[in-house]
Amino acid sequence: MSQTTVPILLLMAAQAALAQPYDLLISGERVLDGTGNPAIYADVAIRDGRIAAVGRLRGSPATRTIDAKGKYVCPGFIDMHSHADEGLASEDKRRRAAPNLVSQGITTVCVNPDGASPWPLSAQRATYEKLGIGPNAALMIGHGTVRRLVMKEDYKRPATPGEISKMRELVRLGMQEKAFGMSAGLEYVPGIWSTTEELISLVREIAPFGGVYSVHQRSESTDPRWFQPSVDKPGPPTMLDAVEETIRIGEESGATVVWSHAKAMGANYWGSSKAAIRLIGRARARGVDVWTDQYPYNSTGGDGATVLVPAWAIGDDAFSSARGQQGAKADYASALHRTMDDTAKAANVRKDIAHEIARRGGPENIVVFDHPDRTFVGKSLDALATARGVTPVQMALELQYEGYRDRPGGARLRGFSVWEDDVDAIMSQPWNATSTDAAIALPEDGPDTHARYYGSYPRKLRRYALDRGVISLENAVRSSTSLPAQILGIRDRGLIREGQAADLVVFDPATVRDTATFENPHQYAEGIDFVIVNGKFAVERGKLTGALAGQVLTRGR
Ligand SMILES: [Zn+2]
Repeated sequence: MSQTTVPILLLMAAQAALAQPYDLLISGERVLDGTGNPAIYADVAIRDGRIAAVGRLRGSPATRTIDAKGKYVCPGFIDMHSHADEGLASEDKRRRAAPNLVSQGITTVCVNPDGASPWPLSAQRATYEKLGIGPNAALMIGHGTVRRLVMKEDYKRPATPGEISKMRELVRLGMQEKAFGMSAGLEYVPGIWSTTEELISLVREIAPFGGVYSVHQRSESTDPRWFQPSVDKPGPPTMLDAVEETIRIGEESGATVVWSHAKAMGANYWGSSKAAIRLIGRARARGVDVWTDQYPYNSTGGDGATVLVPAWAIGDDAFSSARGQQGAKADYASALHRTMDDTAKAANVRKDIAHEIARRGGPENIVVFDHPDRTFVGKSLDALATARGVTPVQMALELQYEGYRDRPGGARLRGFSVWEDDVDAIMSQPWNATSTDAAIALPEDGPDTHARYYGSYPRKLRRYALDRGVISLENAVRSSTSLPAQILGIRDRGLIREGQAADLVVFDPATVRDTATFENPHQYAEGIDFVIVNGKFAVERGKLTGALAGQVLTRGR
């Protein structure tokens, strides 16, 4: 043994004694660190739920090693607009594990969207912590919840200054309970009746905490979803008006604002994402902290319950019955015949149907998913109308006359109301993050589930990055990891860096893809091999583990 070898051996022994083995070493893979930079070749080591080291670590002592050759490792995905809140509080631990979400690589969900949250948030936090949840959760204050707490059932009007100041106290309380901000649903009850001034005052409360305002805007189209030309006065806000409102709220409050599930709905409104993008770009240039999130589909949640005949024409007050849950006694076909016998009413019915057809993407983009005449299934309204030699409006009437009599509209229809060019245009913006707008689903939950519940993140990787090149793979990952973390103010997640929480995804670029479709939505993604939440496997070699390793996150940490 040479004279120099002995001290080196001693040194190595000392180092080995110092170095505890890692809990997990992921080796041999390309690391997309979440910044949008090209992949580096590195190993990632985890200890005590955190990333302990990133670099050439092969051969380091580790309790367990995964060889991920040919795969990518990236930070866990952070869902900006999640309806997982109810499922995470479920008695059923299978549901709390959020299988449809973690199987996509989602490790953190930002919950209580569209203005609706449980109250108080401290109780929601305590429930999640007691029961255990699959992904991490960031909690939002629901604007609609606060509005109802103060205004009770008398909410169909602007709030008084006294009511607004009570709402401000509740918002402040929510922020003190470590909410990440406030969500609003301005196309929904009771947010519809709030004024911009009310929202600015409330958002001013979250600004000093670094909170974010995330909004389902007043309109996503030429007019809001509640609008019917035969009933309502013209002139309600368009999507572009709503974008301007969101920008104004950000500008006057100083808070971060997010136009959530950004889209431009309706065949007669397609292309307007370009105008919205320009408005946002100009606002950002003058210092407004405005962002968007988006799910990568050209069909919306509401599109899955497309009913072309207006509710008033069939005596159906409750739109909730649009899913066919009305008692068997309802006979919408007869009700529609009676309405159409009145010439004045018939003209209004046709006007409303024409409006709805446009809003759902036009006759060629409205597809029959269920109808007693099985030959209709899979065909568009346009194809059926052409085959009969009638107008699309007439065909919509005939679907009700000949279809399920107890189902509003007579058939299960889905509109594809969003133009793929608008999806691409919004996705291409550096300030657009990814979301699902999905709740937790189990395979037995029924056919009305949107494919985004299972497929959003793998779809963005496969269809938009790898196959079509709308954005780079690096950006697809960035917009799903460090960007949402930055917008929400989550400091210790969204990047692969020493000291960050060990929320990780290992995916195979050759096989990663969404398999959920609108015909068959309950299908897990492929190619997402490992999903790690706080150092624990939620998905291991492509199999769900049912782990409940998620934490309720605390703003500012
Ligand atoms: Zn929404």
